[in-house]
Amino acid sequence: MKSVIVIGSGFAGLSAASFLAKEGYDVTVLEKNDQLGGRARSWKKDGFTFDMGPSWYWMPDVFERYFKELGSNVEAHYELVRLDPSYRVVFGPKDYEDQSPRMKELEEMFDKLDPGSGLRLRKFLKQAEYKYNVGIKDLVFRPGRSLTEFMDMRIAKGLFQLDMLKDMRKHVNEVSSHPKLKAILEFPVLFLGALPQNTPALYSLMNYADMTLGTWYPMKGMNEIIKGMIHVAKELGVKFRTSNEVTGFKYSGNTIVGVLTNSGSFLADIVVGGADYHHIDQHISAPEFREYTPEYWNKRKMAPSSLLFYLGIEGQVPNVLHHNLFFDHELDQHAHEIYTDPKWPTKPLFYASAPSKTDDSVAPKGCENMFLLMPTAPGMGGDTEETREKYYNLMMDRLERFTGSNIRNRVVVKRSFAFQDFQSDYNSFKGNAYGLANTLTQTAILKPRLKSKKVSNLYFAGQLTTPGPGVPPCLISGEVVSKEIVKDQKLKKAV
Ligand SMILES: Cc1cc2nc3c(=O)[nH]c(=O)nc-3n(C[C@H](O)[C@H](O)[C@H](O)COP(=O)(O)OP(=O)(O)OC[C@H]3O[C@@H](n4cnc5c(N)ncnc54)[C@H](O)[C@@H]3O)c2cc1C
Repeated sequence: MKSVIVIGSGFAGLSAASFLAKEGYDVTVLEKNDQLGGRARSWKKDGFTFDMGPSWYWMPDVFERYFKELGSNVEAHYELVRLDPSYRVVFGPKDYEDQSPRMKELEEMFDKLDPGSGLRLRKFLKQAEYKYNVGIKDLVFRPGRSLTEFMDMRIAKGLFQLDMLKDMRKHVNEVSSHPKLKAILEFPVLFLGALPQNTPALYSLMNYADMTLGTWYPMKGMNEIIKGMIHVAKELGVKFRTSNEVTGFKYSGNTIVGVLTNSGSFLADIVVGGADYHHIDQHISAPEFREYTPEYWNKRKMAPSSLLFYLGIEGQVPNVLHHNLFFDHELDQHAHEIYTDPKWPTKPLFYASAPSKTDDSVAPKGCENMFLLMPTAPGMGGDTEETREKYYNLMMDRLERFTGSNIRNRVVVKRSFAFQDFQSDYNSFKGNAYGLANTLTQTAILKPRLKSKKVSNLYFAGQLTTPGPGVPPCLISGEVVSKEIVKDQKLKKAV
């Protein structure tokens, strides 16, 4: 039985470990933190349970597929509910739109704001459905090792419909130029870490995921997905070693034979790097075996970092839903200060999540569990207590004004998490929250490669390689890398 070491226990690492164990490999996951789950860890305090990272459950088919491929099912691990409304978009005091999960109501909302746009939305989503079916059910499973993977007839025929060369902003404008509707249609691509004008219109597949497939929630929190994945992994024989930070590799020629950690060393026939790619490449690999140069990494467009607050609040917070997007300032200005002229934002947009609106288990009786997230530029200094507090007050002012409620005085649990924590807790490159941006020049074969060119048995998975950032792509990333390993091993045997 060949031994595999997987570095990191995020979605990608857990996925790679499980798929390899299913194929009969002897798999050990090494995790630097004392808790498994990576960016999807949870934090408990005084009866509150906070998801520390992802909170939007989109593309339920990807999760169903994941558990099914590993001989299990979603229902065995968590109870999934569809949110209705899906979320609230706040445009100003007393000015908001709720996103209905029903197509007819959604079209009516579009027509109310821009007569005729409802029908255009229907057509837009029809195209988006095609892109979703090709993109999420096919393209993302291609490992991006060579251009020939993308040369088959289905893709060639569909290239026009996939809209690779048009940008999202232009595509959204074809539905409506109403500022509110544009914000609603452009927001999902922000998950991909890039501006709508720099994102291929292929990614309107995210609108299909949002508006047609819906926003779901696993009761007890997103960390339940991680727990389910760990359960499945253990049943397949995967071993876990927490508080084991990988610090280096031992090589024989161009092959890794051992993985060194802060508390020992592990033998390895194959290594999968599921921690941030940049960290493994630049800080764990020996200089002669690095895939890329520091200049290459510095030119990558990273997705934003974030300033987060986990808040336990006594009593209820009125007028908010489970998911609330505060789009009460200009998206373009905040985006400019993230991507073009990086600085702490002047008038930031932010996101407020209150899972206790759906789930009593995440807060003590009668209390609210809230999570505030403000995207910030990656790689930016100045992350001080004072700065964090300044933005806390800025977000709180707007939240209190919108809800008409005094919240600040009722906060009984408060923890912030930002740039420096992303670096220290996850070894994140430039403190990125969600990986490498999905721009046209960082798509498929143009992403950092999944198989090392210099080391014979080193592979990569996770949000800095194919297919990209977000929970569903990371699940897929682990599956894709494991299939490549199995394929390469078969080829080796045959030679
Ligand atoms: C605040 C936030 C909100 C988000 N919201 C959403 C959302 O709503 N929906 C969605 O789909 N996606 C969301 N995302 C993105 C999604 O969470 C990530 O894309 C995904 O979790 C990344 O998984 P990963 O396995 O690539 O990396 P990680 O989860 O970072 O896993 C890598 C692991 O490697 C470990 N590690 C690092 N260095 C070492 C080392 N030297 N030795 C051993 N272990 C090491 C880390 O501790 C970590 O556990 C969000 C992300 C964040 C941060």
